[in-house]
Amino acid sequence: MLRDAIRSLAEAKIAPYAAAVDEEARFPQEALDALVASDLHAVHVPEEYGGAGADALATVIVIEEVARVCVSSSLIPAVNKLGSLPVILSGSEELKKKYMTPLAKGDGMFSYCLSEPDAGSDAAGMKTKAVRDGDFWVLNGVKRWITNAGVSDYYTVMAVTDPTKRSKGISAFVVEKSDEGVSFGAPEKKLGIKGSPTREVYLDNVRIPADRMIGEEGTGFATAMKTLDHTRITIAAQALGVAQGALDYAKGYVQERKQFGKPIADFQGIQFMLADMAMKIAAARALTYQAAAASERGDADLTFQGAAAKCFASDVAMEVTTDAVQLLGGYGYTRDYPVERMMRDAKITQIYEGTNQVQRIVMARNLP
Ligand SMILES: Cc1cc2nc3c(=O)[nH]c(=O)nc-3n(C[C@H](O)[C@H](O)[C@H](O)COP(=O)(O)OP(=O)(O)OC[C@H]3O[C@@H](n4cnc5c(N)ncnc54)[C@H](O)[C@@H]3O)c2cc1C
Repeated sequence: MLRDAIRSLAEAKIAPYAAAVDEEARFPQEALDALVASDLHAVHVPEEYGGAGADALATVIVIEEVARVCVSSSLIPAVNKLGSLPVILSGSEELKKKYMTPLAKGDGMFSYCLSEPDAGSDAAGMKTKAVRDGDFWVLNGVKRWITNAGVSDYYTVMAVTDPTKRSKGISAFVVEKSDEGVSFGAPEKKLGIKGSPTREVYLDNVRIPADRMIGEEGTGFATAMKTLDHTRITIAAQALGVAQGALDYAKGYVQERKQFGKPIADFQGIQFMLADMAMKIAAARALTYQAAAASERGDADLTFQGAAAKCFASDVAMEVTTDAVQLLGGYGYTRDYPVERMMRDAKITQIYEGTNQVQRIVMARNLP
């Protein structure tokens, strides 16, 4: 029922704008409005804070179905989870009430600020600092590649509070867009997901009350990593969605397109490609849903499962979307058809929330 509901909404209210959002590199406001109207913009927020209380699998299905028509738009429910999960996992009850309630209502989105210009895969090498000053913390630094920066009202920011302790000297905070000293860089000019704004976040003497710290001092990096264990599965969901969208489009196209006097779907070379695409998607879906179940249960092997699902599904998305372009021939290479956008959008799923090389490091360290 959930899949049917979100698929109808995505096809009616998000898909019609997907090409324009990409072409004009603009925020998918129509998607945000439609998702908020149907309470699907941040489904993971627990019911006690006014949220839909969706479990990890239901959240995956929402993201998957939005990504099937527009990956940029799927960053809305995905990054709302990424940005707010540190608060849900480790925040005080007051912080949860204060920030989950507007998020659930659609009154403010959340972003997640871990990466920096010189700290990507080695996120613990961050330089952004938070210094205690009485009942306040003062933050200074630059966060890079922040999804939905400028659009979101709330930002989970990881910052160094004790430079002698590396990852154990990092703490997490909630920073608001309206806090004095917060500003944003120009939107990055990207290969894909052009509708999802990616900007730097500048923190210039941002003075916030001490109760905006998420969890205890020094636990921010652990919270950030624990968050990724759960949210990498939402990246797998994006990958799965875009791969399914490309397969669905290609399946229709090969029935219509005629060469040598018959539909190209009649050629076994084409049929075998479609079979491989569908097989890989089925495997990615099984792994992703299994990881979502592990996330919901909090299984001991969640770290492995989340990394495996993200890595496998994103590699599948890249292969399947590239094959979809191939199946459309020269037409697939043009912006008159959606598959080249899907191929460009798929690429990011192999890079963010840890590159697929990093996922392999994570899996190797957590072999089941
Ligand atoms: C569009 C977009 C949106 C993003 N959104 C966010 C966001 O909302 N919040 C956020 O905090 N971050 C975000 N990121 C950042 C993203 O997570 C990082 O780009 C990513 O983790 C890689 O870091 P890097 O770009 O610095 O690459 P680098 O770490 O410099 O990596 C370069 C290459 O080296 C490889 N490499 C690095 N270390 C190793 C190793 N030990 N072994 C083998 N290979 C290695 C990498 O796999 C990669 O191929 C986003 C990035 C993009 C592009």
